[in-house]
Amino acid sequence: MKPEQINNLIAFDKKHIWHPYTSMTNPLPAIPVVAAQGCELELADGRKLIDGMSSWWCAIHGYNHPELNAAAKTQIDKMSHVMFGGITHPSAVTLAEKLLAITPEPLQHIFFADSGSVSVEVAIKMALQYHHASGNKSKRRLLTVRKGYHGDTFAAMSVCDPVTGMHQIFADVVTKQYFAEQPTCRFDQPYDPQSITDIQRQLELYHENIAAVIIEPVVQGAGGMWFYHGDYLKDLRRLCDEYNVLLIFDEIATGFGRSGKLFACQWPDISPDIMCVGKSLTAGYMTLVAVLATTKVAHGISADSGVFMHGPTFMANPLACAVAIANLEILEQNRWPAQVENIKKLLTEGLEPCKTIPGVKDVRTLGAIGVVETENPVNVAKLQEFFVKNNVWIRPFNNLIYLMPPYIITNDQLNYLTEVIQKALQANLHQ
Ligand SMILES: *Cc1c(COP(=O)(O)O)cnc(C)c1O
Repeated sequence: MKPEQINNLIAFDKKHIWHPYTSMTNPLPAIPVVAAQGCELELADGRKLIDGMSSWWCAIHGYNHPELNAAAKTQIDKMSHVMFGGITHPSAVTLAEKLLAITPEPLQHIFFADSGSVSVEVAIKMALQYHHASGNKSKRRLLTVRKGYHGDTFAAMSVCDPVTGMHQIFADVVTKQYFAEQPTCRFDQPYDPQSITDIQRQLELYHENIAAVIIEPVVQGAGGMWFYHGDYLKDLRRLCDEYNVLLIFDEIATGFGRSGKLFACQWPDISPDIMCVGKSLTAGYMTLVAVLATTKVAHGISADSGVFMHGPTFMANPLACAVAIANLEILEQNRWPAQVENIKKLLTEGLEPCKTIPGVKDVRTLGAIGVVETENPVNVAKLQEFFVKNNVWIRPFNNLIYLMPPYIITNDQLNYLTEVIQKALQANLHQ
């Protein structure tokens, strides 16, 4: 694009279009991207940035992937969409078959919806309706842990961290839920059974009001990029059963290999009652989520002859389902475990030197996720400018500079990403 066109585009965008968590009056700069290929984003002025973000956990196989493109094109020539009320289609059925085959065995029923936040709404609704139908009319609240993130719609907001979450201004409007301490026991340390005591106490005290526990298994994402011990979830599973409380896993960020297992719940090897998957379900092509439930939940919801009260317009959108099938076929080729393992190794080596830089609090890696946590919130605008100048795309938030690259990233690209982070920290841009 010509410089003048680019300036006009940026000016119009700045004046009229909201970006995520951004002010309309004083927005952070938005950088025009016109194409993307492999692990690179192409800017309007022709520059290319190495992508360290996978477009927020999604683009696991990189951009403009021939097999994913072909799946979308084949489907679009048949039909882009058809209503799911009273109709089904091969793409939805094939995708459901494939998902059920790779997720924990007790999960046998699928609800397709259109965004992560909506899937959390659906999961919560399932839990509430399940207890309602089985006569436990007092079970109307959720229990969760601090520092979680589950999305931006109202029920999802109610289970995000109440303090550091992005939704404090709605505190008086959203449903009051129960919050236990964040699981403190690090993933890479021996399990400390003490870390379960707070949530155990809350279950003891309030179980009669609690329909479900909702939690991101092993990796707390947007609430702080924290990795905790899988055995915590074993204890939690046992406690939920003891108190007739359903267990919901939000695997929207962790699903499809990111944590080093296909699903993070496979670290402790347990099954939730309800599970949300999204983000990389279509490998970053379009928005699609699935809520999976056990037969106990799915049949329980209709124990009073009721129907499950949800039905999005674009439910099981065929285009999105077709791309998701192609994504799962690529994952079935089983290159991802070695890719993720290699990314973990290079992230660990590449970020390790950051530990000794002043202002850095912690460095941690798990699967294809690398995190540098700083003492204080970083200046996002300053860092973003530095990163783009150095031809990388890394988007820090709060006190976190992190990488979760596409699985297909090359060693050179990945080493370059960690080098640029080191340079930014050495230049003291985070303080
Ligand atoms: C991103 C995310 C969501 C929300 O998904 P959207 O598609 O942005 O609505 C919910 N839970 C977790 C764990 C996420 O990472």
